Amino acid sequence: SRREGFSAIPDVKWEDVGGLDLLRKELDQHIVSRIKYPEKCERFGLNLEVGVLLYGPPGCGKTLIAKAVANEAGANFIYVKGPELLNKYVGESELAVRTLFSRARTCSPCIVFFDEVDALTTNRGKEEGSVIDRLVNQLLLELNGEDKRRGVFVIGATNRPEVMDKAILRPGRFGKLLYVPLPVARERCLILKALTRNRPLDASVDLDAIGRMEACNNFSGADLAALVDQAAQIALQDDLSESETIKTAHFEQAVINISPSVGPKQR
Ligand code: ATP
Repeated sequence: SRREGFSAIPDVKWEDVGGLDLLRKELDQHIVSRIKYPEKCERFGLNLEVGVLLYGPPGCGKTLIAKAVANEAGANFIYVKGPELLNKYVGESELAVRTLFSRARTCSPCIVFFDEVDALTTNRGKEEGSVIDRLVNQLLLELNGEDKRRGVFVIGATNRPEVMDKAILRPGRFGKLLYVPLPVARERCLILKALTRNRPLDASVDLDAIGRMEACNNFSGADLAALVDQAAQIALQDDLSESETIKTAHFEQAVINISPSVGPKQR
C-alpha cells in the first residue's frame, strides 16, 4: 500500500535482496547501526543523521534495499515520489515537505525514501524563486534542523545523479553516494535465489545455470523478477495437467518473452 503518509515497518528482509553485499555493509554502518545504537553513535561524536543517495539504472534494487534497511533497523518507512511533492499552488510544495517531515518525526525512527529525487533539483535552468527552488529550500531547512531531525533518516534514489543539486549532496543531506549497478552473472544467480525463496521450485532447477544463460545478459533485478513470474505462470498452466513445481523448461520458455529493460546508454 502506498497511501500517502502511510508508514510502517516494511516486510522486506535482507534475504529478499540478491547480491549487493557491499552496499548492505555501507548501509548497515551508516543507517542501521545509527538507528539501533544512537547512544553509542553520540558517544563517538557521530551526531548528524545521515542521508544517502542510491543511484544507478532502473530496477536494480534501490527501493528494495531501502525497505530492507528499514526492516533491519526496525524503523518506519515513508515512500515519496519526488515529483509528487511538486505543486503549482504557492506554498503548497513547502507545506508538503513540512508535513512529510513532521509525520516522519512522529513515527521515528523513520526512513523517508525519496524516489526520483532528481525531480527536486534546481540545476535545470529554471528561473529563481520557482516552485522547485522554494521546495528545495524547505527540504534543506528540514534536513539541517539537527535536533528536530533526530531519528529521521533520508534515502534518495535516482537514475540521473549528474543532474542533482550540489547543495543537496552535502553531509547530513543526501551526502553519501552509493552506486547500485546492473547485476553481473554471479549476482543474477543470487537475485534468482532470493526471488524464488518462497516458490515451489523443482529440486532439479539449477539457478546458477539459468542466471548465466546468454539470454539473461544485461537483465536487471526487475527483469529477473519478470522472468520468475512468467516461469511461475507457465508452471501453473502446466499444473492443470501434471507439474506441481517450477521446472527448468518453464524458465527456458519464459525467457523468450523477456528482453533487458535497461538500454546500453543507461548502464
Ligand atoms: P527504479 O529506479 O525504477 O525505482 P529500483 O532500483 O528502485 O528501480 P526496485 O524497485 O528496488 O528497483 O526493484 C524492482 C523489483 O525488481 C523488486 O521489487 C524486485 O522484485 C526486483 N529486484 C530488483 N533488484 C533486486 C535484487 N537485488 N534482489 C532481488 N530482487 C530485486
